[in-house]
Amino acid sequence: MASRPFRDLADNMTAHSTGEISRPGTVESRVLEFACIRCGAVYPADVTIDSKGCSRCRDSAPANLRPLYAVPQRDALNGATNPRSLWRFEHMLPCTAADAVTLGEGLTPLLAAPRVGAFLGVPNLAIKDEGRNPTWSHKDRFSTVAVSVARARGAKIVATASSGNAGASLAAYAARAGLKCVVTTFAGSSGAMLAQIRKYGATVLPLVSKMDRWSLLEQAAARYDWFIASPYHGPVVGSHPLGIEGYKTIAYEIVEQSDGTAPDWCVLPVCYGDALSGVWAGFCELYAQGSISRLPRLVAAEVHGSLADALASGADALSEREMLFDSLAVSIGTPRSTFQALKALRDSGGHAVPVNNHALIAMQERLARDEGIFAELASVTPLIAISTLKDQGVIAATDRVVAVVTASGLKDLDRSAGSNEHGQIFQTTDDAWRWLDKNGPDLAS
Ligand SMILES: [Zn+2]
Repeated sequence: MASRPFRDLADNMTAHSTGEISRPGTVESRVLEFACIRCGAVYPADVTIDSKGCSRCRDSAPANLRPLYAVPQRDALNGATNPRSLWRFEHMLPCTAADAVTLGEGLTPLLAAPRVGAFLGVPNLAIKDEGRNPTWSHKDRFSTVAVSVARARGAKIVATASSGNAGASLAAYAARAGLKCVVTTFAGSSGAMLAQIRKYGATVLPLVSKMDRWSLLEQAAARYDWFIASPYHGPVVGSHPLGIEGYKTIAYEIVEQSDGTAPDWCVLPVCYGDALSGVWAGFCELYAQGSISRLPRLVAAEVHGSLADALASGADALSEREMLFDSLAVSIGTPRSTFQALKALRDSGGHAVPVNNHALIAMQERLARDEGIFAELASVTPLIAISTLKDQGVIAATDRVVAVVTASGLKDLDRSAGSNEHGQIFQTTDDAWRWLDKNGPDLAS
C-alpha cells in the first residue's frame, strides 16, 4: 500500500484557487494526490481522470492511478462506524458517509460452502455472496463511491460503457442521487440487465462498435463534462480510481467475517480487474495496519487468458488474445485484461486460470442446488478455477479458500435457463402424483 507522509490539511485547503475552504471530509480535502500503480509517478488531486492512466507508462504498459490520502488511513476495522453499509469504513474511502449516495450496499454474507467445497476438493471453501447487493452485483461497491464523488464534484450526468452489471449499478445510484445516467452498450447484451438499466431511468445507447462506445464517452467528457465511471480508452487501465476504492471493503468484510484472519486464497472472476485490484489494496492496508498477520494469494478466473499469458511471460503490457469462442461468462469476456489486475496477481503470488464454457452451467446449478446460492454464470468461474488449481496441486485440500461470487443468477437467466424444465402441467393431483412416482421417487415415499 502506497502511503504518503501526513501533510497539513490546512495547507491542502488553501491550495484551492477559489479561495473556498473545503469542508473536512470532502473529496478535495481527503484525496491529496494520485500515484501510478506501476512507476509511482505522482499527480495532483485535480488531475483529469481520462481513462488513459499514467502518462509516463502509457506508451509502454498502460497503468491506472490510485488515490493517496491527505490523512493517514489507520485501523480500517476498529475504526468502522455505524452506517449499515460499506460506509462504516468511510475513514478508508474518498468521501464521508454524510456525502455518500447509498442504497445500503456491502455487508454481504460470507457463507461456508462445505458441499461444493468437498466436490472441488477444498472443504474449507466459503462464498462471499456479492449478489446480495442492492442491484444484485458487486458493482454497487464501486458505484456508491463513484456517484458520491461525482455528485460532490458537481457533476450532473454520469455515464459508463457497460453491457450489464456496471450499467445497472451506475443507473441505480444515479437515480438515487438525482443525476442523469447514460449507458453505452453493444448488441447482444443480456436482456434482463438492459431492462434493469432502463427501469432505473438511464438512457441506453447501443452502438455496434466497442470503439464507438468509448469514443462517445470521450466526446461527452470533453464537451459536456459528463463524469465517466468506466474505461473509455484502450488498452484499458481500469475504471475510475476513486470508485475502485469501494472494492477494498470486500477485503475488510472477509477478514471481519473470518475472526480477523485472511484466507489462504481469494478467487474472483476478472475482466479489467477493478475488483481484484481493490480487494488486493484492502488486504494490503489491513496487513500494513497489523490487522492481519499474512496476506492471501489471489486468483483471477478469466476467459481468454491474457493474464495467464502475462504472468508466464513476465511482461507488464498485456497482449490481446484471440477470442476463440463466445463465452457464456459475458461479464468477464475481454480479450485483454489490465496491468492493475496483473500487479495484484504478481504481488500476491497468485494465479490466473482461463475458464471456458464447459461445465459452467453445471457448476452454477451445483452451487444453487447444494448451497442455496444462485450465481450469474461469470460468478461461478472462480469455482472452476479452484478445481483446476486443486487438480494441479497449487491449492491444497487444507487451504482456506474464499470465492467471490460477484452477481446474482437472475442477471443472465436468458443464457443459463431452459435445460431442466420438465414442461408438464397437471390436470389433477393424481396426475401430479403419478408423475412424481415415475420421475421423483424420493419425493413420493
Ligand atoms: Zn506510471
